[in-house]
Amino acid sequence: MQSSAMKHAVLSMDVEDWYHLEYFRGKACDREYSMLDGLDRYLDALSRRNLPSSFFVLGDQAQKLKSRLRDLADGGHDVASHGWGHRRPLEMEPEVFTEELLRCRAELESIMGKPCLGFRAPCFSLDRTRLDRVREAGFKYDSSRIGFSEHPLYGDLDLSGFRQASDGVYSDDDFYEFEVSSQAVGKKQIPISGGGYLRIFPWALTKALLRRYLPEHSLYILYLHPFEMSERANPVYPQGTPALTRLRFATGRAGVRDKLNRLIDYLAEHGYAFTTFERLRNLHMDSRPEKTL
Ligand SMILES: [Zn+2]
Repeated sequence: MQSSAMKHAVLSMDVEDWYHLEYFRGKACDREYSMLDGLDRYLDALSRRNLPSSFFVLGDQAQKLKSRLRDLADGGHDVASHGWGHRRPLEMEPEVFTEELLRCRAELESIMGKPCLGFRAPCFSLDRTRLDRVREAGFKYDSSRIGFSEHPLYGDLDLSGFRQASDGVYSDDDFYEFEVSSQAVGKKQIPISGGGYLRIFPWALTKALLRRYLPEHSLYILYLHPFEMSERANPVYPQGTPALTRLRFATGRAGVRDKLNRLIDYLAEHGYAFTTFERLRNLHMDSRPEKTL
């Protein structure tokens, strides 16, 4: 039996290509070279255990992934929005942000033939003003909050007026915020949810962090990107790409598929049930004491 007291894991992917990454922005990238094959490699890993996932899709990638997105939506996965072209919401005037939200939502809904309920901001760059815009645009959940303020790109998302529905889950009426997982180590918060960390940290370190995180929490969220799962070679980096950026992009890519399988096994062994944000929201709505009919 499922209940909101169970331990849940949500595996998610932000569906964007390598050249959408913040550190390649504005650079002359070869956009003909795609690493979106990583989406299929990710689906291979999920199908091993028949797991659902939440996908946050960029509007400007939706047309070329049309039939794939339909299959995902029909197959019980969430197809949600990651904005249009990966511009950071905090860089946009709220009105412009709203236009982008509506444009992406309409695009995804016309492809899926069903409502697009969720949003995740590029680079987790969201503040309260813009979160309210997400709600006003008709979305029912957001997953842009991360307890990791040392990263300069991550905004600080104020949730006053929300109630904590369960670990990492906040609600205000029928709108939900799912906080991306991080683990306190000393005074630092390590974002153990990130694909980049899964890639770069040795599995033994990830496992050590999870060993501390899992007993204290009932929600674990992972987010990955197609380029991390791609089997294709590294792209030709745009001119002037610093050595550190190249390293950061490429490190651990070959091993991440294996680590994802290990992570899935580890979560399952620790009693985590795999779900999507949409299902988790429904579960909470069904068990709300103040539920009105
Ligand atoms: Zn992104």
